[in-house]
Amino acid sequence: MKYVDEYRDPKVAQAIAEKIARKVTRNWVLMEVCGGQTHTLMRYGIDELLPKEVELVHGPGCPVCVTPLEMVDRAIRIASLPGVIFTSYGDMLRVPGSQSDLFQARARGADVRIVYSPLEALKLARENPDRQVVFFGVGFETTAPANAMAVWQAKREGLKDFSMIAAHVLVPPAMRLILGSPSNRVQGFIGPGHVCTVMGFQEYDELVKEFRIPIVVGGFEPLDLLEAIAMLVAQLEEGRAEIENQYSRSVNYEGNLPAQRILREVFEVSDRKWRGIGSIEDSGYRLRGEYAAFDAERVFGLEDLNAEEPEECISALVLQGLKKPVDCPAFGTRCTPMKPLGAPMVSTEGACAAYYQYRRHA
Ligand code: SF4
Repeated sequence: MKYVDEYRDPKVAQAIAEKIARKVTRNWVLMEVCGGQTHTLMRYGIDELLPKEVELVHGPGCPVCVTPLEMVDRAIRIASLPGVIFTSYGDMLRVPGSQSDLFQARARGADVRIVYSPLEALKLARENPDRQVVFFGVGFETTAPANAMAVWQAKREGLKDFSMIAAHVLVPPAMRLILGSPSNRVQGFIGPGHVCTVMGFQEYDELVKEFRIPIVVGGFEPLDLLEAIAMLVAQLEEGRAEIENQYSRSVNYEGNLPAQRILREVFEVSDRKWRGIGSIEDSGYRLRGEYAAFDAERVFGLEDLNAEEPEECISALVLQGLKKPVDCPAFGTRCTPMKPLGAPMVSTEGACAAYYQYRRHA
């Protein structure tokens, strides 16, 4: 397939892996911050192709995985109210809340529907003026512009029966938290290509300078990731700490300016709780005051609902690169994709699901 096969060529992959092996002289720990990249790394066995000196750990790059428990509980509470049509991407339906999940809520009679974009939810709101249509807006900076656009459009049309749970999280503050932790092991980051397509990579300048850490924005195909790893290893071995862009066919320094404009129009930056990790300063988006009528948590009055994480799930350590999914005692036994204990085993982008799917436990 044109434009895909050339990024999956095994001979080129082998050549890049050999280049990395020739360059490396000591141990390095690298982290990717995107669930899509985690899955490519596992699916193509890139972790096994690298020299033993290069260790890959997996960051908080799956938005479903970092959506806090109480947010899922709030979603279930709202979905269970009479007159509500609750809409969400399919992944979120199986994410466990403290008591149940959205699938179980649907089995109990809640009108929970899977949609493929927030504009589908908006269409449902237009078609059902006697119902409250709520969209579960989860995601990083990548999906946030489409959700912002849906809210902007709803306001423009004067829709009274549409609202959104805005559960967006931002990547740079999470990287900052990891780097600032006394237990941090990460020495270089593969930057999230999709997020940077929207936001550019100007935001990472500060992190590079402050922590003297190399960051290479990477794509999603096997050769993209191998090349990004080679660029990181070269920087580390040469004592450089710079921001570089491997994914230049999609990402530029400024990013997508119209998308950033709609984000600023509808959302404001706020503190946000991350599943297992806790609150991170300025790490999320909430709807601006002008759009409060579309904020489902305010509309339904559930802002104060809180919940505790299950003790057995070590996803907080996995998401900070301190443990691998296979280090979790529940992995593959009490926690499987069919019966997940934590969100990283549910989501198609979750690190635990990737390790399970690609047999890293076998
Ligand atoms: S294997 Fe399951 S219980 Fe363990 S960290 Fe992953 S999601 Fe949590």
